[in-house]
Amino acid sequence: MTRVAVIGAGPSGISILHAFKSAKDKGITIPDIVCFEKQNTWGGLWNITWRTGLDEYGEPVHGSMYRHLWSNGPKECLEFADYSFEEHFGKPVPSYPPREVLADYLCGRAEKSGIRHWIRFRHAARWIEYQQGQKVFSVIVHDLVNGCQKHELFDYVIVATGHFSTPNVPEFDGIETFPGRVLHAHDFRNAQEFTNQDVLIIGSSYSAEDIGSQCWKYGARSITASYRTNPMNFDWPEN
Ligand SMILES: Cc1cc2nc3c(=O)[nH]c(=O)nc-3n(C[C@H](O)[C@H](O)[C@H](O)COP(=O)(O)OP(=O)(O)OC[C@H]3O[C@@H](n4cnc5c(N)ncnc54)[C@H](O)[C@@H]3O)c2cc1C
Repeated sequence: MTRVAVIGAGPSGISILHAFKSAKDKGITIPDIVCFEKQNTWGGLWNITWRTGLDEYGEPVHGSMYRHLWSNGPKECLEFADYSFEEHFGKPVPSYPPREVLADYLCGRAEKSGIRHWIRFRHAARWIEYQQGQKVFSVIVHDLVNGCQKHELFDYVIVATGHFSTPNVPEFDGIETFPGRVLHAHDFRNAQEFTNQDVLIIGSSYSAEDIGSQCWKYGARSITASYRTNPMNFDWPEN
């Protein structure tokens, strides 16, 4: 039987599993499917964790989410055609939902489609190699809970590991003598940490705009925005 590996059970990975399940429900023969997910649950970036750096297994923390994050796009543009927010919550919800609402919606759709049994949580994919002779992919995964490596063969591999998880941290002259805390947006968790502090934001896109606004809202003394190119037309208020 044809075997398919899906790496990652974030919104993309679970949508792929959902598509296979929909086909199966229509009577179509589907391949044998295994999804490897390194976190202990699905939802990808929409999960929130207090951890930064490494997780309890020594894996780089995937999550970049922070408390008080709200969707930056209207739910009408994010909604799945086959499962509306209204169907999930049983009532109309505002266009810009907070993180918890989006996570609940995404996971609710996954739960409803009955795809959980395909996912091996706490399994991190380490290496994928195409075996020319057998025309299969060899996938090496790390079972984080049991602390062992496994090796399996698949005909197809779908990589759905996301691309907003690895921070890009430039080096600036003199940064090593800066006395305050230096952190990347990936490690930002809560604006209240910056109450009564002066915050310098480097960058000018979504994260800068949102984190700067949140810090200001939660009591930072000042926000200074620094950018190399034009800001994304955000009309920064005074301070
Ligand atoms: C702070 C922030 C705010 C955002 N706000 C919005 C928003 O308002 N609206 C919007 O539409 N989008 C937003 N996004 C974009 C977000 O990336 C997408 O909404 C969505 O999460 C992408 O889904 P994904 O499945 O492609 O990736 P991810 O959500 O990143 O999921 C990837 C999954 O793969 C797993 N994984 C990674 N590596 C491995 C491995 N080696 N082995 C096994 N599993 C692995 C991860 O644990 C994770 O569960 C935001 C992103 C960030 C960081």
